[in-house]
Amino acid sequence: MSRIWFDTDKICIGGAWRTADGAEVLPVKDPSTGETFSQIARGTAADIDTAVASARTALHSDWGRMTATQRGRILTKIGQLVLKRADDLAWMEARDVGKPLTQARNDVIALARYMEFYGGAADKLHGTTIPYLDGYTVYTLREPHGVTGHIVPWNYPMQIIGRSVGAALAMGNACVLKPAEEASLTALAFTHLAYDAGLPDGALNTVPGLGTEAGAALSGHPDIDHVSFTGSVPVGALVQQAAGQNVVPVTLELGGKSPQLVFADADLDAATPFLVNAAIQNAGQTCSASSRILVHRSKLDEVTTRMAERYNALQVGPALDDLHVGPLVSARQRDIVSGFLDKGYDLETAAQGQIIADAPTGGSYIAPTLFTNVAPDHTLAKDEIFGPVQVIIPFDDDAEAIAIANGTDYGLVASIWTRDGARQMRLTKQIKAGQVFINNYGAGGGVELPFGGVGKSGHGREKGFEALYGFSQLKTVAAHHG
Ligand code: NAD
Repeated sequence: MSRIWFDTDKICIGGAWRTADGAEVLPVKDPSTGETFSQIARGTAADIDTAVASARTALHSDWGRMTATQRGRILTKIGQLVLKRADDLAWMEARDVGKPLTQARNDVIALARYMEFYGGAADKLHGTTIPYLDGYTVYTLREPHGVTGHIVPWNYPMQIIGRSVGAALAMGNACVLKPAEEASLTALAFTHLAYDAGLPDGALNTVPGLGTEAGAALSGHPDIDHVSFTGSVPVGALVQQAAGQNVVPVTLELGGKSPQLVFADADLDAATPFLVNAAIQNAGQTCSASSRILVHRSKLDEVTTRMAERYNALQVGPALDDLHVGPLVSARQRDIVSGFLDKGYDLETAAQGQIIADAPTGGSYIAPTLFTNVAPDHTLAKDEIFGPVQVIIPFDDDAEAIAIANGTDYGLVASIWTRDGARQMRLTKQIKAGQVFINNYGAGGGVELPFGGVGKSGHGREKGFEALYGFSQLKTVAAHHG
């Protein structure tokens, strides 16, 4: 039974749904089976042009005239409608990207929570008054950028739409959303729900399509005022370059090779589930996946044994079976990850999960794999794999742990497992990352927690209150009254 209640092959411009320019479509495949079960529009550069114009118009129409409180109420209502459709959205995401149902449902809850958070925050960000020269009154205004472009990947479509489109709308921007070609269904569903909630026409325009066509047209569009991109490093660089031609600010979130540092005094009972889950969630296709476990050499065997036990119990199968791990998003992604596994031929395999016996042969499954005693300069220890593959790397002292942790091009997330408070504080300052967790990993992924990277993990912060600064600009007003 299908739970999709709308036409999937349309784009949304100015609150109205229509076929893409040229009426071409792209197939939607279920990575659990390899079967095509739906289709989406192949939006073009001309569609992006119309979408940007529609967003621009919205800024001077009902949307632009709304108070911050009214915007906030609409966002809150969208969150409520998202929750009402939770089962449908979770099912859609599970089929579209292969995410096990429970994990897909968590994304729905997070999307609703983003709407609630940014709905509540919309009228809470105020300007300031600045004491200045005699005879002057000086104050600042927080204003939207204008038209914001949102290029979203396939790994957490709902969460990434929530954190970027949610914050942008809260600040009064008008958005053009380009979801990933592998994962557009929940973006379309979200757009329907947003208009059902009373969003004024043109405040959100959604154009699915190929990255090289619709995505490239959006990032280089001369009438865009801000671009938010989550995805790969090479495409992030292209997006920044394209936006740079128009001198437009860009937020980039480009993934990582995030380490967890496990010291000899760590509470391994508490740590072990986090060590594994942080790489297994969403089959490792998570920008903040912890694909490197750095372990004090005295605990190498024990940590390897504990993690291996969990790997051996992992079951991989169709998303609707709701096992620990689903398929990868596509055959292409599976081939990328298999290529990495081939490069691990010289490594010591500690354990592997099991693909269930009756998993459909057309599905893009891969057995989660744990390697141990890996040298920090091995390809699998340095490059982002974006699959359920993890390496354990031994270290001898704090200085070496930090050198290894900071020894990749990335810097997104890190965690430190130790009972030593002084070490916690010292290493937190030394580590290269946008988020550091102490004796946990991810802290439940809270929408309140600012998120973003350093180095090739990108720049700018989304999530939390901080995102509202990113999706707005400051105007300083100096009035001379004598
Ligand atoms: P990608 O960077 O190619 O795609 C991400 C988004 O960018 C999609 O919406 C895509 O349509 C769009 N895009 C593609 N080319 C574009 C262009 N020239 N101009 C503008 N937009 C463009 O990522 P992918 O191909 O889906 O995955 C490849 C690798 O990227 C993965 O193996 C993984 O390492 C990484 N990745 C990271 C994240 C993350 O959250 N940081 C998410 C997805 C993928």
